[in-house]
Amino acid sequence: MARQNYLRDKEYFMLTAILAAQRSKDPKTQVGACIVDNENRIVGIGYNSSTKDFCDEDLPWDKPEKHLYVVHAEENAILNKNIANINGAKIYVTLFPCNKCAQLIKQSGIKEVIFCCDKDNEKDYNIASKKILEGIALTKYVLKTKKISFTFDDTEKISAEISKRSTDDISQEGSQYCSLQLEDL
Ligand SMILES: [Zn+2]
Repeated sequence: MARQNYLRDKEYFMLTAILAAQRSKDPKTQVGACIVDNENRIVGIGYNSSTKDFCDEDLPWDKPEKHLYVVHAEENAILNKNIANINGAKIYVTLFPCNKCAQLIKQSGIKEVIFCCDKDNEKDYNIASKKILEGIALTKYVLKTKKISFTFDDTEKISAEISKRSTDDISQEGSQYCSLQLEDL
C-alpha cells in the first residue's frame, strides 16, 4: 500500500512558500512565494530580500525606508522563474500581494493567487491590488495542519551505513532516514 503520510500538492506548494519566507532577513515581515505551472511543477520561488549585491544586513529594515529597497517575494519569484512563459500558472503566497506585485502577477498571465494571510485588506494598496487582480482567481488557503515536524535519524550513522553499501543496495532498500509528522488542526 502506498504511503499515506505524504504532503499533498497544495500543502507542498504553500509550505515551499512558507519555507522560502524563512530565508528573509526582514525582522517584521517574512513573505514567501512559489509559482507552479500548469503541470504542477514549481517554476519559481522567492522571498522578500534586498537587491543583488546589496547586503541584506545593511538594508534599513525599518518602515517606511525599507520600501525603497526591498524586492518583494512575488517579484523575486517571477524574476527567478526558470521557464520563459508563466501564462496560466498559479502563485502561492504567504501574504496577499501588494499593488505592485499584483501588477506583475497580472502582466505575467498568472491565473490564480493562493494566499495564506490577508491582514492588510482595509489598506489602500490592498484594495488597489484586488482591483488589479480582477479576473484572476483569489483563493484563501486554509492550513489543515497545526504542526509539521521532521525527525532525522542519526545522520552520521546513516552516512556511514550508506558509504558501506553499494548504490544498488540503497535503491532496493530505500532510505528511511527522515520521518515526517503532521499534526491535524
Ligand atoms: Zn509586493
